[in-house]
Amino acid sequence: MSEKQLQLGEDEATLALRDAWSHALEALASQINKPSFESWVKTARPIRIQGGAVVLGTSSQFARHLLESKYAASIKEILGQQLGYEIKLRVEVVEGDEPPLMTEKLPRTPRPLPKAEDDSIFQPLNDRYTFDNFVVGPTNRLAHACAAAVAEQPGRTYNPLFLYGGAGLGKTHLMHAVGLMAMQARPDMRVVYVSGEQFTYQYVNSLREHRTADFRRRYRNVDLWLVDDIQFLAGKERTEEEFFHTFNAIYETGKQIVLTSDRAPKDLELDQRLRSRFECGMLADISPPDLETRMAILQTKAQGEAMSLTDDVIMYIARIITSNIRQLEGALIKLHAYASLMKTDVTPTLAEEVLGQYFAENAPPVLDVRKIVEEVSKRFGVEPADIKGKCRSKEIVIPRQVAMYLTRTLTDTSLPAIGRAYGGKDHTTVLHACRKTEEKIAQDRSFAGLVEEIKRRLRDSGAASS
Ligand code: ADP
Ligand code: MG
Repeated sequence: MSEKQLQLGEDEATLALRDAWSHALEALASQINKPSFESWVKTARPIRIQGGAVVLGTSSQFARHLLESKYAASIKEILGQQLGYEIKLRVEVVEGDEPPLMTEKLPRTPRPLPKAEDDSIFQPLNDRYTFDNFVVGPTNRLAHACAAAVAEQPGRTYNPLFLYGGAGLGKTHLMHAVGLMAMQARPDMRVVYVSGEQFTYQYVNSLREHRTADFRRRYRNVDLWLVDDIQFLAGKERTEEEFFHTFNAIYETGKQIVLTSDRAPKDLELDQRLRSRFECGMLADISPPDLETRMAILQTKAQGEAMSLTDDVIMYIARIITSNIRQLEGALIKLHAYASLMKTDVTPTLAEEVLGQYFAENAPPVLDVRKIVEEVSKRFGVEPADIKGKCRSKEIVIPRQVAMYLTRTLTDTSLPAIGRAYGGKDHTTVLHACRKTEEKIAQDRSFAGLVEEIKRRLRDSGAASS
């Protein structure tokens, strides 16, 4: 083999180093906390390769110290994976913020196994999000059962599996649990987890850098594809198109796909072809947990943190936080921090003191369907029972639609759950009600004023109670 064949040309070497660094940055972003990453890692630049060492340039002694002491190991590992051989790392302080890039000719070394190379840009799975840590209740039972079936037999049962529901209800948790369990059973399985947002950024970057072929290659040979928060793709035409092809490529080889979204496929503003692909699979919605499930979740989380909480306290928290499990956890952490700082036990009074104030400051007033129905029927002069009933006369239909619209806009309740709360209506009826009301608000000023007035009253009454 000639000397020439053994070495990459100057330009190629420069490009390879730049490319490796930009890929390494994507992976490092998920390993290093954001402020540190933004301040110290992202601002560094690869300058040259010298004697097997990559030399990074940075702008201050302090940044150099941090890069060498704290982040060197991760950088070496990830950048080494990208370059295809083990590297040493040196950091130099350079003047100006865009140090010149001069690369020594790179030796042509074998590329790493595709797995290591390709996976470094994907987010890792969170090993706390397991099936064991997931509390099952009536509102997430179906989603849990489907996820467990998929984890046991990827590609065989429900494909794609589409989980949807409001924020903080456990979609991401279940998705990670599927990945972790599948990998446990088959460690060689290629599991790729990506958020809709990340997919979009990766694609846009690959367009900008003329690396779409690379981008596509990464999504080949995926055995289990987990795509979180797919709603992020809505309205991004080219990304949607690319997603459609990736989806088909993976699906057609019989590999498993799991998707999550904050709404049902029907309500996603995505290309019809994509929506119908999703609808061909298994759809499972998650709605906010009932009181017992919320209490069970709190118990599990408290045990996990080695906190002992009395039933009174658990009941208190579960009663004030109803629609978001992330908030439940946040409340627990806050309470824990406060109690250990003050060296006191957690009593209901303490919980009220700490969390009551917290919720008065941060949370929107707790509103429920009953209050909304009550207020709407008062303003329209109809009976609350009619609003939840089946009567189709215009005098009833309009206030019913307004009530559904207000429930949708003022609370975290999902469309199917609103449908159930209004006498077992289909979620498409709820969506239709919201659209109709929005149209009327836009067209009719006195109607808009009336809806505004109801909202104001609800806010006033909601803030005062819980
Ligand atoms: P989503 O993706 O639906 O917004 P996440 O999966 O991020 O919600 O869940 C938010 C938090 O609530 C996570 O910390 C998760 O572990 C926790 N969580 C959600 N549902 C459950 C559950 N059923 N049991 C235990 N923890 C849960
Ligand atoms: Mg999520």
